[in-house]
Amino acid sequence: MAHDVVRSSLVDEQSSDTTSTQPVQHSTQKINLLGMSRANLERFFEEIGEKKFRAGQIIKWIHQYFVTDFAQMSNISGKLREKLQQRCEIKAPEVVHRHYSKDGTRKWVFRVGEGAGSLVETVLIPADDKSGARKTLCISSQVGCALDCSFCSTGKQGFQRDLSTDEIIGQLWIANQSYMEDVDIPERTRSVTNVVMMGMGEPLLNFKPVVESMSLMLDDFAYGMSKRRVTLSTSGIVPMIDKLSEELDVALAISLHAPNDELRNELVPINKKYPLQQLISAAQRYIRKDGNESARKHVTIEYVMLEGVNDQDIHAQQMVRLLKDLPSKINLIPFNPFPHAPYGRSSRNRIMTFQKILSDAGFVCTIRQTRGDDIDAACGQLVGQVADRTRRAEQWKKKVAQQNEIVRSQG
Ligand code: SAH
Ligand code: SF4
Repeated sequence: MAHDVVRSSLVDEQSSDTTSTQPVQHSTQKINLLGMSRANLERFFEEIGEKKFRAGQIIKWIHQYFVTDFAQMSNISGKLREKLQQRCEIKAPEVVHRHYSKDGTRKWVFRVGEGAGSLVETVLIPADDKSGARKTLCISSQVGCALDCSFCSTGKQGFQRDLSTDEIIGQLWIANQSYMEDVDIPERTRSVTNVVMMGMGEPLLNFKPVVESMSLMLDDFAYGMSKRRVTLSTSGIVPMIDKLSEELDVALAISLHAPNDELRNELVPINKKYPLQQLISAAQRYIRKDGNESARKHVTIEYVMLEGVNDQDIHAQQMVRLLKDLPSKINLIPFNPFPHAPYGRSSRNRIMTFQKILSDAGFVCTIRQTRGDDIDAACGQLVGQVADRTRRAEQWKKKVAQQNEIVRSQG
């Protein structure tokens, strides 16, 4: 598949290479305002002798009108604009590939450092409902992932580094901005309606930048998204689920993938540290926190369907027992294969039989539609494909050659 190679016209030549959650200091010594939450920006304005309310104004220019040039911020005095121009910048991550699929799916690959291992992906998936109004953006939180789930191409890539706040919120900024390029500033509106932190990485292991970015998503001065439309997905970092419940009210998705510890230890190795009972209790605590008033009426359970591994009737029955006291909606995900993956995708019939057992037991259970296959944009395929064409593909080739050599010498 050939990607269009583009460089966003809104970013300059400098690349962002900081992991700090504080205002980002580039070599030009300019502070990147893109990743600053309202509280941080208010503090910043006070520090430079300006009024706090300027923070709200600037945030609106950045996140509602997608303006990166201080000169265009017409309600800010010329003197302050000049001051900001000298000290600050508004800089999104560098887009190195952009691809728009026939089915409306859009994908961006960002460079966040040097080398093939410094790419992250963001995918926008339009709704399959009749209105067509829903646009869900799947955002990455880390470059790679340390948790090495056996069915995940990101995990196979290993962990490179955490993303900073501007690199996380920058993904939402660029996705929205992509619909606005030819629209006059006063007419600009946000197009993305839902965000899921289901791209590369484990968001709860990059806690502060993820929470700051999500606070911008919820902030009326920035994206003003409904808390029910912002979902954090985790493989189950139990103490951080509790911490999240203290800080933010967003929807929670749990990547379950197996209904018993033995199988989950194999598929999601973090389960050895935080086994199922602990995970289910943490999810129950998360929901209990605010009850019906919040985004936390239920959790979403994600379950990738791996042929002959976790997709048998017995697994569905175990799941019914495991989840009986946890208000949950279950989303079955057909496995997205990637090169050298040790699994196959369960058949449509198998997935439907599995779904029936869960729905008969009273669960709302949906099957995720795979979208964007023509641009490798389906969830779980994020960037793995890109990295695979480069570094990992070489490693795999070597490994396979070595194994063939062993087989030949034994045979
Ligand atoms: N680390 C977090 C969020 C990123 S993964 C988590 O694990 O929840 C986002 C979702 O994609 C998870 O449910 C993950 O299990 C799923 N996924 C990963 N690899 C996949 C694959 N090859 N096919 C289908 N889904 C996959
Ligand atoms: Fe990391 Fe999530 Fe992939 Fe597991 S499924 S390796 S936690 S990104």
